[in-house]
Amino acid sequence: MNIFKRAQAPTPSNGGSALAELALNTINDGVVIADANGIVRFINPAAGRMVEANALTNPVGVSYKDVLRLESKESRALSEQENPLVMAMNSGQPLDNFRASLIVGNLGKRVPISISVINANDASRSRIITFRNIAKELEEEGAQTEFISTASHEMRTPVASIEGYLSLALNPQTATIDSRAQTYLTAAHNASKHLGKLFQDLLDVTKADDGRVLPKFVPVEMVTTVRKMADEYNAQFNKDKKVNYTFGSSDGRLMLTDLKVAQVVYASVDLNFLQEIMDNLMENAIKYTPEGGSIWVSVRGDGDRVLINVTDTGIGISADDIQHIFQKFYRADNSDTREIGGTGLGLYLTKKRVEAMGGRIWVESGFGEGSTFYVSLPRLTQEEYDKRIFVLKNQQQFEAAQAARRAGMPQPVAQPQPIPNQQVNNGGTI
Ligand code: ADP
Repeated sequence: MNIFKRAQAPTPSNGGSALAELALNTINDGVVIADANGIVRFINPAAGRMVEANALTNPVGVSYKDVLRLESKESRALSEQENPLVMAMNSGQPLDNFRASLIVGNLGKRVPISISVINANDASRSRIITFRNIAKELEEEGAQTEFISTASHEMRTPVASIEGYLSLALNPQTATIDSRAQTYLTAAHNASKHLGKLFQDLLDVTKADDGRVLPKFVPVEMVTTVRKMADEYNAQFNKDKKVNYTFGSSDGRLMLTDLKVAQVVYASVDLNFLQEIMDNLMENAIKYTPEGGSIWVSVRGDGDRVLINVTDTGIGISADDIQHIFQKFYRADNSDTREIGGTGLGLYLTKKRVEAMGGRIWVESGFGEGSTFYVSLPRLTQEEYDKRIFVLKNQQQFEAAQAARRAGMPQPVAQPQPIPNQQVNNGGTI
């Protein structure tokens, strides 16, 4: 007999109810069933153990929010608006394996969990919440990540050296080789470059996976920022103009010259993350678009989001591949892609970076039809942008004064900047 037995689960048909109860009482996953108002109606023993409930604190009849108190997986407080459990419970949308920290007991112990929510498909509109302790899983992932990270770091150095020597061998000013050696060394040079990129990508991915790199947000105007990044990437890596590049059309394929570029669209982003996102999307657009094709990049405001498009007229992606391309190591395998080098890590990392900034990435494409990658990020109003710039400037002045004081230098008189007058928001959308 367990303390939760008296809690009533919505029962399946009579024949199955005893077995269902047996299963719920024995599994290691926590199961909490709440009614449509979020009041806990059932909690199985595993859930009871995890939330450290006992006969005195039996959570049946209380709000699920008091039982399942969540923080982000990095143990950062979550407001209701950014708590996926609350959002799923309020909206009736399912939640699939969200990783979080569960706050347990009076002393506030943190337990890493993976949590899901589904809705009972009946008139009760009950919500079934399942969760499990993932401490061991995280430990194993951590050990694996550590190994990959150390191995890639160690191997990157000799590979860079091989690549360097092969470059010297292939350079007519530093070496003399016959044409057969040239062919072999060129192949070796390409392979070493691929290996170098693989190690670098692996290192970046392991850092992103273990949450070592947290975003440092700064307020920016997105049209100029993204344009600069895309223009510079294009100038550096599309030098021979294999692919035509244009910035500023919302849907390049349809209306290349008709649409005006947005005047001002603000967002709070990590500039290194944004650079990586743009580099990866530009690299792919150029790489997977045959000579003579075109790419377009644009930025616009879309309600409370900023939308970046990278469109190309390249080889496109089949419906089967689209659902996998954001997974680690996934590369579409067809006669077109086989010839093109890649590690299958770029889009995985790009997605991680976008999500770390509260955004979303998706693609529209068809095989042979070109592709459009969309990145949507939370947008700032002009007022929010001005406030954040004000805070940032004061913070920078304060830090400069601190640094000067530590270095024993005469200190600049830091005058706090007044909050700028509200400018007329000219819309910022196109
Ligand atoms: P890769 O290093 O292979 O380019 P990514 O993770 O960046 O790895 O991309 C995963 C796969 O998605 C690619 O191998 C390719 O099949 C497909 N892909 C990505 N971008 C494009 C694009 N712009 N056009 C066509 N296929 C693309």
